[in-house]
Formats: sequence, structure tokens, C-alpha cells
Amino acid sequence: MTQHTDVVVVGGGQAGLAAGYHLRRQGLDFVILDADPAPGGSWQHMWDSLHLFSPAQHSSLPGRLMPAQPGETYPDAGHVVDYLTDYEKGYDLPVQHGTRVDAVRRDGEGLLVETDTGIWRARAVISATGTWSRPFLPDAPGRVVFTGRQLHTVNYRCPADFVGQHVIVVGGGNSGAQIAAGLALDGRVEVTWVTQRPPQFLADDIDGHALFDVATARRRALEQGRSDTGGIASLGDIVAVPPVRAARDAALLTAKPMFSQLTPGGVRWADGSEAGVDTVIWCTGFRPALSHLAPLNLRGTHGRIPTDGTRALGEPRLHLLGYGDWTGPASATLIGVGRRARDAARALTALLR
Ligand code: FAD
Repeated sequence: MTQHTDVVVVGGGQAGLAAGYHLRRQGLDFVILDADPAPGGSWQHMWDSLHLFSPAQHSSLPGRLMPAQPGETYPDAGHVVDYLTDYEKGYDLPVQHGTRVDAVRRDGEGLLVETDTGIWRARAVISATGTWSRPFLPDAPGRVVFTGRQLHTVNYRCPADFVGQHVIVVGGGNSGAQIAAGLALDGRVEVTWVTQRPPQFLADDIDGHALFDVATARRRALEQGRSDTGGIASLGDIVAVPPVRAARDAALLTAKPMFSQLTPGGVRWADGSEAGVDTVIWCTGFRPALSHLAPLNLRGTHGRIPTDGTRALGEPRLHLLGYGDWTGPASATLIGVGRRARDAARALTALLR
């Protein structure tokens, strides 16, 4: 049996919930379909020691402040899961957990949303499926011949899983730095951190909140036709959260340039020397999870769909929310996604009425 609604939101992480908050305010009928059996989006799958790079009061979705976590300036991932669970329940958002959307197709005036539990017919769709389910692994030479263990950020849990091993952590972003720092501080793991270019640490007093302010100032300047104030890229890549700072200050977080290739038992460095390695952890980023939108034939470059803000250029009934700056500045952050969700809900209200 096909069910009907105004808007289907695909994905019930922070972006999907923020969409729900604003769709409700606009008075639209909607449902949120989420593949995970429990609330919290990707935060429920992140590694044990992960902490936000902004304090709680600067990590909130619209309408409800994230409470501080006792004893922590920067809340951990479990605290975010609790907050999102509370948000979903507190606003009584209609989230169907354990429902995966396989395909979205055009069907006359509407869109058909095919799931593993049935079919929905909607007048519009907001896709908010994030990137966590599409980890990216680079085509590094020798990756297929390496006989040790390889895992991506998404499969990393804690240092205890690697006691006594030589672990190479690949990647110069926040994930690579935080995982390398955690392993190094643990003391039971030999860790080598490799990055494609020298790591760029942000100044210690710049956290996620300060980055958001810089990005906001730039957006305002550009919107008002003033000269570019410069974005966050020039400030650096790695937020000096407490474990990163501690490992860096103890000289435990020194990056080496990328190895030239993997060998069956380890790596070969650019000078031809080799090292034995038990495990490689690829902290090499993500791609947007958009396979359910393939039937709409909207693909652009880099696995993205061309957009104007959140609206898909080739399909005005489709909005994309939360994937990164290409779906609106700071849309892939807790504090930034609310504004983008509001824009999407307003645009859809104008379209559907
Ligand atoms: P997700 O949280 O990934 O949620 C997507 C949801 O969609 C999931 O529940 C999934 O089950 C569901 N889904 C996927 N595909 C389908 C489908 N086909 N059908 C139905 N459901 C589907 N941001 C900050 O603001 N502060 C930070 O400190 C911070 N730290 C970060 C650290 C790391 C390591 C990472 C990776 C990101 C961090 N971010 C941070 C960025 C950002 O907040 C997260 O990426 C955020 O989880 C994105 O939310 P989302 O709702 O877009 O996607």
C-alpha cells in the first residue's frame, strides 16, 4: 500500500531533525525515514573518545539548546546522541527508524519514495542522508597487496583494539589527528601518523565556535557585496581539542609525509626504506550518500548534485541538506544546519502552496 504525505525527509540525523522542526513550523505534513534503528544519526557510530570541537551551547539545533555535559567543556559523541534523542522525542517528530530508502523516482506531479518497508508518495523530498555511510578510501599504491588490517575512520573504536601493534594513521584532518593522538597518548600502540601535506594546526584558542563566526562573517560580507573577509581554510585544518593538544605538546604527534606504497608486510617510504605495519587506519574522508537519488539522474561532479542553496537545480521538489558547504555554509555542523533547514522548509512551502 502506498502512503501519502507532503514531504518525505530521508535521514533522521541532525539534518533530518532540523528539517522536521522547520517543516512543522511551516505546517507541512511530513515523515522522516531513517535507516538506523535508533536516534542519533552518525554520532552513535563514532569512536569512543570523540569530543565535539565546540562547547555545548554552540552546538545546538533550532529551538532547543544542547545542555552542557557535566565535567566536559567539549561534549562527547554519546552526549550528542542523548541530545538528538531528546530533540526527536521532545518535538514528537515523526521519525520511522529502521527504514532504508532505496530509490526516489519522479511520478507525475509527485515523487515516489521506495523503501525496504513500503512505498511513500510525496510532493517533495528533503535528502539528509549525510556522508558517514560512504567512507572514502584513496587508491594508494599497494593497497590490495597489504596483508595487514585496513580500516576506515568509521570502523575505529579505541586504542585497546591495537595493543602491541604498529599502526599507521593516514590523514591530515581532524579525524586523523584525533585518532593518532588517542593512540599515541594511550602508550600501548606504536603509531605513525602520515599526511599528504604538513598538518595545519589551528591556534589553541580557535574552536568550532570561532570557526563558525569566521564563516558567518564571510557569508555576510559576500551577501552584502563587501570584500571577501577570507574563509576558515586559511586558518588551518586541525582544531586543537584537548587530546590533540596534549599529544602535540608531548611531541607525540609529529606527521611524516605519505609513504610511497604499501607492501605485503608494511610500507615503503620515499627514500626506499621499509617498515613493518600491522594496521592502517584510513582517515581519508567521506562522500555524500546519494545512491537513493540515482533514478533522478541529477549527478554532477565529485559525486554531488548541482544545487542552488539546498535546492537541486534539476529537480525543484528535491532539497539536499547537511552534506557540506555545497548545500549551504556550515550545513554539515550542528549549529549551522538549522538555518539551511529553515531555508529548505520555506522554499518547499512556497513551492507546494
Ligand atoms: P548523519 O548524522 O550521518 O545522519 C544521516 C542519517 O541518515 C543516519 O541516521 C542514516 O541512518 C540515515 N540514512 C542514510 N542513508 C539512508 C537511506 N538511504 N535511507 C534512510 N536513511 C538513511 N560537527 C559539529 O557541529 N561539531 C563537531 O565537533 C563535529 N565533529 C565531527 C567529527 C567527525 C569525526 C565527523 C565525521 C563529523 C563531525 N562533525 C561535527 C560534522 C557533522 O556534525 C556530522 O557529520 C553530522 O553527523 C552530519 O549530520 P547529518 O544529519 O547530515 O548526517
